[in-house]
Amino acid sequence: MSRVWNFSAGPAALPEEVLKQAAEEMLDWQGAGMGVMEMSHRGKEFTSIAEAAEADLRELMAVPDNYRILFMQGGAIAENAIIPMNLLGQHDSADYVVTGAWSAKSLKEARRYCKAHVAASAEAGGFTSVPAMTEWSLSDDPAYLFTCTNETIGGVEYPFEPDLAAIGRAEVPVVADVSSHILSRAMDVSKYGLLFGGAQKNIGPAGLTIVIVREDLLGRSVPACPTAFDYKTVADNGSMYNTPPTYAIYIAGLVFQWLKRQGGVAAIEAQNIAKAKLLYDYLDASDFYASKVDPACRSRMNVPFFLADESLNEVFLAESKAAGLVQLKGHKSVGGMRASIYNAMPLAGVQALVDFMRDFAARKG
Ligand code: PMP
Repeated sequence: MSRVWNFSAGPAALPEEVLKQAAEEMLDWQGAGMGVMEMSHRGKEFTSIAEAAEADLRELMAVPDNYRILFMQGGAIAENAIIPMNLLGQHDSADYVVTGAWSAKSLKEARRYCKAHVAASAEAGGFTSVPAMTEWSLSDDPAYLFTCTNETIGGVEYPFEPDLAAIGRAEVPVVADVSSHILSRAMDVSKYGLLFGGAQKNIGPAGLTIVIVREDLLGRSVPACPTAFDYKTVADNGSMYNTPPTYAIYIAGLVFQWLKRQGGVAAIEAQNIAKAKLLYDYLDASDFYASKVDPACRSRMNVPFFLADESLNEVFLAESKAAGLVQLKGHKSVGGMRASIYNAMPLAGVQALVDFMRDFAARKG
């Protein structure tokens, strides 16, 4: 068996230890005589798996007691509709900060449910930066303010945590799509009303959506909200109103345990800083490659980069693949290359990429 360095934006590489443990437990989970996929979601074995996963996530992110953790389905794109349906309550509007393709998509979906107001947008600059909070212009009475704190496609990450108290609007709950950087860095959950993300980048298999929501925001859903997507129903039923994605929750739980063994979020954040620095320092030092994102807002997780001579793109992709470095093609809307270097990508993988890039530049430059 040989495994590649996988730079996919998601579904993405998982820690090898986790995959090995899952393989060992595939036929018989800890003496249960069956695998996790075959268990009743209400049985004592799976209940213990789900409870441990939730407790470990709560510990890793220091989620305060007045927040509920929900294991849902539908992915982050479904949340673009589920969020307004749950949080609008008596309001008829919500505010959006648009920093790239994902928040733009969220805004578009919200317009089906409410008046969605653009509080700030980085579109004029080609989505290469995050507007400072002092430039955000909130509407009078929004149900919430939506942000995407790591734009996976553009490679733009907030260099600050949204904090509406700092601009005198503490009453407006902040919603954040953290799909592509959850658990990669410390986040102060108490600054947000709701955090959400698909699991398939930093957590586990696709099919699981994590929602972390402040308790006072439950019970505000609009009548048309599907019961299975009503946060209060999901919370009241311990994420088991309907059958949850049990296997994805199990793998997520193994990833949380792995993360704890790495030393938790602070330790993985230090590694992520080192990985990103290695790659961006090389990009900055080379005139063969370039990053277009404002250096202050460069994502530690998703690194889009360009070859100065774009006619070499296909050769770069073919040769990198032959060298065991895969999924480096940039998103079609951005072009160029993109290396996604989530928690499970070790420094050695980024070093292998930089070594290849240096060698390629020396041969073709
Ligand atoms: N938001 C962000 C920031 C993402 O990176 C993605 C997936 N790439 C999505 C939303 C959409 O997620 P899903 O396909 O799971 O609905």
